[in-house]
Amino acid sequence: MEKEGCVFCEIVSKKKESYNFYEDGEITGFMDLYPVENGHALIMPNEHFENIFDIELKVYLKIHGLARIVSMAMRQSLGAEGINIGQNNGECANQRVNHYHLHVIPRWESNNINWGRIEMSREDIQKNSEILRKSIDGFLDRGFKILE
Ligand SMILES: [Zn+2]
Repeated sequence: MEKEGCVFCEIVSKKKESYNFYEDGEITGFMDLYPVENGHALIMPNEHFENIFDIELKVYLKIHGLARIVSMAMRQSLGAEGINIGQNNGECANQRVNHYHLHVIPRWESNNINWGRIEMSREDIQKNSEILRKSIDGFLDRGFKILE
């Protein structure tokens, strides 16, 4: 059920523009519009679960299963040398949007780890979503699974 005023629910219902690289009936993968690194991606449930305390287990596992494929895709298509995966729950943990989301952040040896926002054009963010989609589809076509 969509929650009134939730920006991530609005992405699911297509009321708000987003750069998605994956979607199915339960989860959506899309680019963070305020990236801390080139290629910073998010994965969320389509249903409005607030955080780790109320998310359905199957959806939670599916999100993390996709994160593994997204990581492989980042390594293959963006040349990422490392990946950070993280997730904030509650205001004191720095959760900014109260709709569960998992961060998948590609990293490179040559860059210092940065947790502050970087400037990126919408065009480049969109390009990343297309690159990731293609690579993810390739892994799924070759039999890699999100869930067993
Ligand atoms: Zn929501």
